[in-house]
Amino acid sequence: MSDVIVIGGGIAGCSTAYFLASDGADVTLLEQFELGTLASGANAGSLHAQIQPEPFADYGMSWARRFLPALPFFAQSMAMWREFGSEFGADLEVSQTGGLVLATTGRDMRLMEDKVRLERGAGLDSELWSAEDVRRRAPYVSRRVIGGAYCPLEGQANPLTATAAIGRAAQALGAAVLTGRRVVAIRRIRTGMEVTTDRGSYRAARVVNAAGNDAARVAGLLGGRLGIRSLPIQLSVTEPVAPVIGHLLYSASELLTLKQTRKGTVLIGGGWPAEIDGRRRPRVAGGSLLNNLRVAVAAVPAIASARIVRTWAAEVNGNDSWLPVIGEMPGAGGFYFNCVPWMGFSGAPVAGRIVASLVQGREPPVDYDISPFRP
Ligand SMILES: Cc1cc2nc3c(=O)[nH]c(=O)nc-3n(C[C@H](O)[C@H](O)[C@H](O)COP(=O)(O)OP(=O)(O)OC[C@H]3O[C@@H](n4cnc5c(N)ncnc54)[C@H](O)[C@@H]3O)c2cc1C
Repeated sequence: MSDVIVIGGGIAGCSTAYFLASDGADVTLLEQFELGTLASGANAGSLHAQIQPEPFADYGMSWARRFLPALPFFAQSMAMWREFGSEFGADLEVSQTGGLVLATTGRDMRLMEDKVRLERGAGLDSELWSAEDVRRRAPYVSRRVIGGAYCPLEGQANPLTATAAIGRAAQALGAAVLTGRRVVAIRRIRTGMEVTTDRGSYRAARVVNAAGNDAARVAGLLGGRLGIRSLPIQLSVTEPVAPVIGHLLYSASELLTLKQTRKGTVLIGGGWPAEIDGRRRPRVAGGSLLNNLRVAVAAVPAIASARIVRTWAAEVNGNDSWLPVIGEMPGAGGFYFNCVPWMGFSGAPVAGRIVASLVQGREPPVDYDISPFRP
């Protein structure tokens, strides 16, 4: 019998287990595959903190106003990322270069003006850049760019190593991290809950659902529902090239995230749709690949000669509001969600910290309202 069972060994589950174990709780993490096998190990590693240009362009101001409560959440997560690895002696390759949304049309520029006004009103230190600012501070971007929105908090970390490193840190603090165990049933018992896997049953007073794309299915094991869905998207990486890209870049009106890693490789993504194959697994879509590369080269012409070494597809956890879903499931005392959609890599440190506190009946160490994130 543990204090807490965490279902899912992605970055949400590992981070929750880490903070629980560092508080001295007796925690067991159950993962069906290995740590970080799904989205947490296949993502682009961008650390996002600004209102994302894609939903802003699609859904507009009313959506953005509802998203504002998430800005201090992501800002706190950025601050935590800076210290996170050093707390447990791992280099998570965190860099904070700032993120820049590139505008190429008058409409883009008006969108960025509205976005920056809204963000600054909510306390985020974002800046509107003119064409001249862009030439001076990001001279490597295309001459077609006429301005942009800059958020100094943003950057990147290494998704290939981060999740397993956090999981190992949780283990070093005493967490039982059990992989190769698929949760198939959850039932209430007098002392809490019994979680049944394909390799045995485990009991705990409380349970955290950190099952990523499968969080809705896992909630369903206790009769709950969750508006998280799974969408296949894809990413590409180039061979290492000389340093050229100095920021996390986005486009104001087309799907793009673009950045250069410490090793010189360029990661090209932005949420271009992938396909689902006959075995229900995500598969790269050729059309999306070509479009993604077209948008990337239009933003930074200097990368046109860099060779792509790998393109891959994975499923992202999405919802309509883009707000985190964090807290106790209504009507199911003792069963908690840790589900940060779309940007769950960015939000993992603070989401793990908040959920670990809530599970222990403690006030989370935040100075903003988390009630909009309630399941
Ligand atoms: C291609 C791509 C690019 C992305 N880029 C970024 C980015 O740059 N920045 C960013 O912030 N976010 C990005 N994301 C989103 C981010 O990766 C996710 O939001 C985040 O990883 C979610 O973490 P998680 O731990 O909640 O879920 P997951 O990583 O999906 O982990 C959930 C875990 O639960 C396990 N599990 C599920 N069901 C069960 C069960 N029944 N029993 C046991 N285990 C179970 C799964 O095997 C899995 O390991 C991207 C996503 C994708 C797909």
